[in-house]
Amino acid sequence: MARWLALCRPGFERDAAAELADRLLGSQLGPLGHGFVELVAPPDATPDPERGGLCFVSDLMRVTWLDFQPGVTDRAGPLCDLVSAIRNAKGSEVPVELRVLCPESSQVAGLEKFCGSFSNALRSVLKKRDLITVRAQKALDTDDGDESSHSVSLVVVFISFHRCAICLRPWKDGAQAARRGRVSRGHDAPSRSGSKLAEAFRFFQIPTGDSGGVRLAVDLGAAPGGWTAFLLEKGFMVHAVDNGPMDPILMERYSGKVIHVREDAFRFAVDKAADLLVCDVVDQPARVTDLMLRWALQSQVKTLVFNLKLPMKLCYEEISICLAKLRSGLDAGVSSHRTEAHQLFHDRKEVTVVISHIIR
Ligand code: SAM
Repeated sequence: MARWLALCRPGFERDAAAELADRLLGSQLGPLGHGFVELVAPPDATPDPERGGLCFVSDLMRVTWLDFQPGVTDRAGPLCDLVSAIRNAKGSEVPVELRVLCPESSQVAGLEKFCGSFSNALRSVLKKRDLITVRAQKALDTDDGDESSHSVSLVVVFISFHRCAICLRPWKDGAQAARRGRVSRGHDAPSRSGSKLAEAFRFFQIPTGDSGGVRLAVDLGAAPGGWTAFLLEKGFMVHAVDNGPMDPILMERYSGKVIHVREDAFRFAVDKAADLLVCDVVDQPARVTDLMLRWALQSQVKTLVFNLKLPMKLCYEEISICLAKLRSGLDAGVSSHRTEAHQLFHDRKEVTVVISHIIR
């Protein structure tokens, strides 16, 4: 059995554990931490790709643990020794990328700051010992598939000042997790919600409207307009559906490109001309699921991006029911689709779902 580390949003460790028990066959759960779960699983275990990426697990790594003595002053030395030993045992390439991090919102005071400064110190020791050839992130992102799929990444996760997990893996395996994280929107944004949609576009690599001609988006539950503002910036025309008021400055700035429809989102007629549907309505997940399924089956939208709000305790179970309903409805009603769900950095008690690549 190999040791694994799963990172997740703090407070959702039980959901991440339930997901892993369901998706990573043969795994046995270890301790639940704050924002992480330790487990053991067969070395070649992998979550069944047919069911899409993991929802409550933000990163899953096969790791080697390293413990430091109390009063340790040199962490880089033993870490480099271990990296060298793992590389030799696995016969892996020299890593091209180093990430040093701790679980999200770590309760260990000063740990996040430490990771930032230790990353520079470790990088220079790794370089001296020819254990890394760091390439710019941009070069990795734009590499043709073949080259970056062979590139290896080194990830070091500190769960305390005395314990860290080390993972050497293909760069591609961590590429999606690296797209998760804070997205800053301007101070004049109508709401902070815009960050959620911006992160969803980056994480799920959703094409935006600014690459081709003008396209139409429908935004259900749009007020005061954080998501609408993001879509307008990306070149979409927007029908913003909400009974509540939209931000007047936004409406004036984009006059002619945005229409505010004061209607109930659940009664608003499916719009056949729309290319994109987004929905941030606060309602029961099952109700929103039915609404999204109706849009996916009855409109011509190519992509749907929506939040399922999670007020209940058993979030994984609730989301599994919603996703199963969506997938079986879509399987029966369209030729093909891609349905993915993930709890993003900007998602609080909610998850973001994206339905794309719909062929009707
Ligand atoms: N995405 C918005 C933004 O970026 O500013 C925030 C949306 S807020 C979380 C949820 C919105 O859903 C509220 O403005 C609320 O009025 C709206 N809403 C809730 N139920 C609705 C319904 N049945 N029909 C239309 N809007 C609804």
